[in-house]
Amino acid sequence: MKIVKNRILKNQFVSEGVYRISVEADTQVKPGQFFMLKTLDNSFLLPRPLSVNDVNGNTVSFLYRVEGKGTKKISTLHEGEELQLFGPLGNGFDINDLKGTVAVVGGGMGVAPILYLVKLLGQKAEVYLGYKDSANMYICQEFKNISEKVVVVTEDGSFGEKGLVTDYVPYNKYTSVVACGPEIMMRKIAEHCTENEIQCYVSLERRMACGMGVCLGCNVETKAGNKKACKDGPVFSGEEIIW
Ligand SMILES: Cc1cc2nc3c(=O)[nH]c(=O)nc-3n(C[C@H](O)[C@H](O)[C@H](O)COP(=O)(O)OP(=O)(O)OC[C@H]3O[C@@H](n4cnc5c(N)ncnc54)[C@H](O)[C@@H]3O)c2cc1C
Repeated sequence: MKIVKNRILKNQFVSEGVYRISVEADTQVKPGQFFMLKTLDNSFLLPRPLSVNDVNGNTVSFLYRVEGKGTKKISTLHEGEELQLFGPLGNGFDINDLKGTVAVVGGGMGVAPILYLVKLLGQKAEVYLGYKDSANMYICQEFKNISEKVVVVTEDGSFGEKGLVTDYVPYNKYTSVVACGPEIMMRKIAEHCTENEIQCYVSLERRMACGMGVCLGCNVETKAGNKKACKDGPVFSGEEIIW
């Protein structure tokens, strides 16, 4: 893990308020890991955590939504400029631990970290994507390009199935379920899996300042005591979380 200045290869508009930035990064990355990103002009002090969305050779991509000052600044960067990256950080998903066919569930921006996971799982993955509406959907086609089964659900039914993605997963068909998205979605999935003894992993999001376990800003309450989302996670067993 190191802090390096990386050349930006692309910073593309994906949909309203959502962009994907690709940078050169010569490093081994596990799906579910993240980097801390900072611009070189110091226009914001603390680096911002973004999950790895995809890896292609020496290119690492991040899919991000503009939320505030940091992500807005990142969205203005151009190809050829540099960005400071610190990582990869966090535990990521352990592909070898995921047995049988895996239901991979993403909700909203939570689809970002699961693309690379699905890519590595190949035909072992069946994908369920939940979005608010068709105007706020991203990278569905990329999931369809790498997975035979992709179910898309929008809350208002403007694309795909109508309702909540959690209602479209036939949980008992699977040995493992992986989820990333709004906390309420992950909680619902984790509780169902625990009751039915299905292996479940969730990727949690917490505000974090350092990304390496020093600032203690990203506490996660678990049955084994307090843990840090940045260092012990962001991937946790759904069963161990006190929701
Ligand atoms: C491990 C990890 C991985 C992440 N991966 C992604 C990703 O792949 N794509 C993506 O779009 N976002 C991701 N996020 C969230 C992203 O880090 C925040 O949206 C970003 O830091 C906001 O910074 P800002 O300066 O733009 O906004 P700020 O001005 O700092 O905040 C704007 C708004 O975002 C909220 N916010 C800020 N940080 C977080 C956070 N960490 N969690 C929840 N809400 C926050 C604030 O409460 C505020 O409402 C991830 C967060 C973590 C902890």
